[in-house]
Amino acid sequence: MPSETPAAAGRCYCGASAFKAGLPPQTVAYCHCSDCRRWTGGPVGAFAAFAADALTFQPPLGPGFSAVPGVTRWSCPNCGSPLAARFDYLPGQVYVPVGLLDDAGAFPPELHCHSGSQLSWLHLSDDLPRERESGRATLRNSGGQP
Ligand SMILES: [Zn+2]
Ligand SMILES: [Zn+2]
Repeated sequence: MPSETPAAAGRCYCGASAFKAGLPPQTVAYCHCSDCRRWTGGPVGAFAAFAADALTFQPPLGPGFSAVPGVTRWSCPNCGSPLAARFDYLPGQVYVPVGLLDDAGAFPPELHCHSGSQLSWLHLSDDLPRERESGRATLRNSGGQP
């Protein structure tokens, strides 16, 4: 393993699951959908989207679980922290809860997804773009690839 400083790194609550990224996230986004609320336990999810081949988990991710068709999620097998999610409609990207990042303050969200599902009592006074639905076109094009 090369010893250079990763572009981003993080871990679960207990530390049994960790990850490193060779490239910074392609984008960072809030997700207000009820699935992400349930999975993270917060009033809104916030995720860093990494190119799948730039991200290494230790230990490697297992098969994950899928409660919704087209969505696979992984949690720490020891403490249950949400770790990673993949969406069939966003190929090649892995979404990591931004709160797991060691340097989360360095990766501010760039848009809101599913803003139509935002909780009425949650106030986020930013001027970021708000996608009422999944924002998949914006997310998918965030890698800088044509
Ligand atoms: Zn853990
Ligand atoms: Zn969501």
